[in-house]
Amino acid sequence: MSNAAPAQDCPLCPRLVEFRQENQSKYPDWFNGPVPSFGDLDAEILIVGLAPGLKGANCTGRPFTGDYAGELLYPSLIKFGLASGTYGAAANDGLILRGCRITNAVRCVPPANKPTSVEQKTCRPFLVSEIEAMYSLTSILALGRIAHDAVLSTLGLRKSSYPFRHSAIHRFDKKLSLTDSYHCSRYNVNTGVLTESMFHEALGRALSATRKTSP
Ligand code: URA
Repeated sequence: MSNAAPAQDCPLCPRLVEFRQENQSKYPDWFNGPVPSFGDLDAEILIVGLAPGLKGANCTGRPFTGDYAGELLYPSLIKFGLASGTYGAAANDGLILRGCRITNAVRCVPPANKPTSVEQKTCRPFLVSEIEAMYSLTSILALGRIAHDAVLSTLGLRKSSYPFRHSAIHRFDKKLSLTDSYHCSRYNVNTGVLTESMFHEALGRALSATRKTSP
């Protein structure tokens, strides 16, 4: 099964298109487009981030790659057996995801890292398509409240029934669950909102909701 991904010149969000064009002229060697998901569609775990960082995923073309958040995310995935290789902050570092896939609630880099609610909604069909295409999906890990809300909207579930809480597991049915984590952003890590052990706890829970086992 394949999934619908935004075109490289996706025209759907005027503000994001304008920002993309600015970045294309300032940084012509960067990726500067909707960042595709990373990992195989047959994965059991889907990690949902917020949106590409300007100098990270928007530059390298791979989610969380070159971003501060990737410095915690990728080594943690390696530790939990969900990735192999060495994370080198570049799309050609040879890192391979094992049983997990990574996407973003919004595929294009937003100014100041803040997608509007209209932009989040406009990008939603791509997340819907992503989730529908992942035929072995059993566990979603949402990084941050925006990703959590995007997953609930995608699944047609009420936000009030599933409040965001770090490390909470929301079980929707026998097959699918959502685990919440604070986003592994520079701000959250530097202010101590999210520590490495807190992140590992959430990742371990997301993993325990699959048939795999954590280390
Ligand atoms: N932060 C995210 O949420 N996603 C990325 O791809 C990069 C940074």
